[in-house]
Amino acid sequence: KFSARAELDRLTRYNSGLTLDDVAARAKGHPIAKLGSNENPHPVSAAITTAMAEAIARPNIYPDPSARVLADEIARQTGAAAERVILGDGSEDLLNVLARAVLNPGDEVVTLFPSFPLHEDYATMMGATVTRIGLTPDRRIDMDALLAAAARPVRLTLIANPMNPAGLWLGPDELAALLAAQHPDSLLCLDEAYVEYAAGPDYASGAERLAGHDKPLLILRTFSKAYGLAGLRIGYGMSNSDDVIAAMNLVRTPFNTNAVAQAAALAAMTHTEDMARAVAATLAERARMEQALAALGLRVLPSKGNFLFVDCGQPSAGVADRLIDCGVIVKPWKQDGFETFLRVSVGLDWENDQFLEAMARIV
Ligand code: PMP
Repeated sequence: KFSARAELDRLTRYNSGLTLDDVAARAKGHPIAKLGSNENPHPVSAAITTAMAEAIARPNIYPDPSARVLADEIARQTGAAAERVILGDGSEDLLNVLARAVLNPGDEVVTLFPSFPLHEDYATMMGATVTRIGLTPDRRIDMDALLAAAARPVRLTLIANPMNPAGLWLGPDELAALLAAQHPDSLLCLDEAYVEYAAGPDYASGAERLAGHDKPLLILRTFSKAYGLAGLRIGYGMSNSDDVIAAMNLVRTPFNTNAVAQAAALAAMTHTEDMARAVAATLAERARMEQALAALGLRVLPSKGNFLFVDCGQPSAGVADRLIDCGVIVKPWKQDGFETFLRVSVGLDWENDQFLEAMARIV
């Protein structure tokens, strides 16, 4: 018997569910609609696969440890300072690096709830305590509670905007209020994994606020969602704080992004036409699914992501299990108060149809 660190007793393993083979065995000939991981189901542009092929032809050479060319392109497109851009092995990696770089045992981390479980898990792993800001009874972000918490000298406020799984988001005024409320000693991290889906005047990214903000701010983004590179594992962070970036650079592994991922991400940022088409298709499908689910009498939260958070009106674990028999993978939520909700990604048209037809039978 071996005992690991005591903090780990409070964690459960993320994404340890069924494999695709398990699902195929139960789906009895149905094609599999993979709607559980918020991936972009559309093919990536040929420019990306060409760039990958060139990079993979030299497997004996280490990648650039700072991904300089890619960081420069990110800076050029976002307005961030290139020396305050950091790359990660997915934004998951950067969440982990962030926790290890800034959290002491007993520190307080403020997060939204329900939100990406790793936001809480990495804080817990470091022995920090997590303060969850829940939704209001009418299922909006509780801005009063968020602003009050952010104004205290907490170590880190870590929120996804748009939120996963809830899909809710902070509008421009709400973001401005949060930035104004932030305590000067605490770090604010905005996880913008879904930013490319969140266009519109009612959404504001923190990126435009980096330069003018005088308190520590970190924005995390990923190539896994709209850019369609989830399998390559690459994401990035941008900050207005040299200290935050220096600490994260000390903690990360030196070669935390591989050469193929760096090349693909650079090509993805410079050939965005296919991505724009994929995003537009996803937004149209999201609206169609929202209507169809509402027509089934189900409550769906408004979403700025490539997914919907749906109240099934019955335990969602059972619904998700029956969906597997129809070849549809979704994510049933298991956290307190949200056990009747499932998160479904917006897939290809046929995948969404397969999901909607199955839901009509099940609920
Ligand atoms: N943040 C949020 C809010 C997410 O939903 C996800 C992926 N589900 C991630 C970060 C991590 O994405 P990746 O590691 O693929 O960049």
